Amino acid sequence: MEHNMSQNEFALDIRGLSVEYRTDEGTVKALNGLNLSIKKGTSLGLVGETGAGKTTTGLSILKLIPDPPGKIVNGSIELFGSDLMEKSDKQMRKIRGKEVSMIFQDPMTSLDPIRTVEDQIAEAIRKHENLKRADAVKKARDVLELVGIPAHRGKEYPHQFSGGMKQRVVIAIALSCNPQLLIADEPTTALDVTIQAQVLDMMKKLREKYGMSMLMITHDLGIVADICDEVSIIYAGQVVEHGTLDDVYRHTLHPYTKGLFDSLPNMEDRTAKLKPIKGLMPDPRDLPKGCAFCPRCDFATERCKTEAPVPVYRNQEHYVCCHLYNSESFCQSEVTSNE
Ligand code: SF4
Repeated sequence: MEHNMSQNEFALDIRGLSVEYRTDEGTVKALNGLNLSIKKGTSLGLVGETGAGKTTTGLSILKLIPDPPGKIVNGSIELFGSDLMEKSDKQMRKIRGKEVSMIFQDPMTSLDPIRTVEDQIAEAIRKHENLKRADAVKKARDVLELVGIPAHRGKEYPHQFSGGMKQRVVIAIALSCNPQLLIADEPTTALDVTIQAQVLDMMKKLREKYGMSMLMITHDLGIVADICDEVSIIYAGQVVEHGTLDDVYRHTLHPYTKGLFDSLPNMEDRTAKLKPIKGLMPDPRDLPKGCAFCPRCDFATERCKTEAPVPVYRNQEHYVCCHLYNSESFCQSEVTSNE
């Protein structure tokens, strides 16, 4: 991908990232030359189906890919201008929490059932700040208030909290050291719709208040519309379309992105049938030679079977990787009207 911004305008800048898992059944190619960047203080939605490489992307940024069997085989990851590939394990431990934090889908995997909530937040704080235990607990209670939990509930254990409250605790832990980049991996999938909206609203307000950058990993284009500035669509370990919300939602280009929109429930007409994308994600041990979406695409041609598409830009931000488009596809007036 080409971009004209200088390095230091990005919170995160990933170029050509490839990650493999070597298993007895073959090499799983989880990420295949992924490009992704987030401008400082903005929020990017990374959207795709299960198995597209979303979580591997999050874990790569934290350098938490289990090795073996996983390995980053190519590419670069820069966090606030600094090359993460050069960092030692010790340096990464400092970076995690302080510069970048990740919230996982299931709050229970992140919480210790036998320790109080304030204890767990205080521990996260003390990993990065030289505070006495009592001071860290005091700060932990402040962070609880920040995520909408009364401070006195800090003395309770995770099982005493509802699902939505538990996820707020996990968010409190992630925020406790004021990370500059927050990675949220399907943070509200396990919650019911009303609670989901409350948690998302809270995250949005906190992000704006602290000027944090955010990577929201989700399969849900509705969540992205609520909380993100830009969106990258991921398929078989590659970003196939990227742009601002307006670009991708109003000028959708890639057949896969169109399929994702068509498979969204229609809130106005609940009797309308959903149109799921036909077929399945390709086997990551045996990816198609050309475009990875080819076996599922209604527009596929012979060329798509053999030649991998490269990014074609509709404007400075919006690009698509698909042979349906070339540099002449987008007339100049459309390009300038979107800048
Ligand atoms: Fe479909 Fe070909 Fe475009 Fe791939 S490159 S999405 S197969 S038209």
